[in-house]
Amino acid sequence: MKTLIFIYVFLMGCVFGSFVNVLIFRLPHKKKLFWDRSACMSCHHPLAFWEMIPVVSYLILKGKCHHCHESISVQYPLTELFSGILALTIYVRFGLTMHTFCFFIFSEMLLALSIMDMRWMAVADRLLIVSAVFALIDSVFDPLPFWIRIQGMIMIPLLLYLINCIKTAFGEGDLYLLMIGGYLLGVPKNLIAFVISLFSASIYALFLLAVKKRKLNSYIPFVPFLSIGFFIAFII
Ligand SMILES: [Zn+2]
Repeated sequence: MKTLIFIYVFLMGCVFGSFVNVLIFRLPHKKKLFWDRSACMSCHHPLAFWEMIPVVSYLILKGKCHHCHESISVQYPLTELFSGILALTIYVRFGLTMHTFCFFIFSEMLLALSIMDMRWMAVADRLLIVSAVFALIDSVFDPLPFWIRIQGMIMIPLLLYLINCIKTAFGEGDLYLLMIGGYLLGVPKNLIAFVISLFSASIYALFLLAVKKRKLNSYIPFVPFLSIGFFIAFII
């Protein structure tokens, strides 16, 4: 029975991941999220139900559109798979509560925002708003004191804002996300999340410097690292 529940949670996570893909590709182009039928990105042929099954369709189609045979981005199945793993990890760690549901939605938003930041070095305001709404809903169900949340929300973003006043180092989206995540986690988990983010981003930047893919003064997307930090700080 337990195994069946795990499989169900994983599959539901994959379905959410499919919606995350919709968010990533439709929001920047100001397309409707719910009423437009999904179509091939190359030939715009509407997709049949069997072409939209998370992960499975990609495998059946061997990564190519059924109509024009153009390659389908591997990002689709990877996002779906990753979303399934996120759902399963959160469920196994905390069970089914409103708190875990709120954090699951926040994690899905982090996944979408991370991919957007990696692709376009920008994030969608609407996803930040959804994240903020679920952080607020969470504060109704989770006993974390309000003052701890407010400290988590203000502390690091204020510091980074002051750093930005001297020299712009962090994007506006990063600061908003730190405020939302800080409110959700409170202190000291916001600090743990931020240290993990800085540490992982530094390793990545050094790696890019070593393979000469970046110059010393160039920017790297920070949201993926913030997301890693938030997720680890949440589940430990
Ligand atoms: Zn096509």
